[in-house]
Amino acid sequence: MLELRPTCENCNTPLPPGSLEARICTYECTFCATCVEDVLENVCPNCGGGFVPRPIRPSRNWKGDNFLGNDPGSTTVRHRPVDRAAHARFAATIRTLPPHER
Ligand SMILES: [Zn+2]
Ligand SMILES: [Zn+2]
Repeated sequence: MLELRPTCENCNTPLPPGSLEARICTYECTFCATCVEDVLENVCPNCGGGFVPRPIRPSRNWKGDNFLGNDPGSTTVRHRPVDRAAHARFAATIRTLPPHER
């Protein structure tokens, strides 16, 4: 199950479970859409993979207790700002390959 981390790892902006701005990699490294586009160039600084929009967990109990009331988002903040110069070099290397070959 996704942790639904509470903030952007780079800029620490709040990303509550209902946020449409949250982006995640396959390891659930979590950033805001602005940082993914403007800082990260869609390359995760932790694993080198890409990002997708984080799905919204239902806030209502539509079915089988599978909802935020039963499975709330994480409250553990992971704020690890990216070194922009180092990341630019990292991303430039990775982006020479098409996504399916990275
Ligand atoms: Zn951010
Ligand atoms: Zn990652």
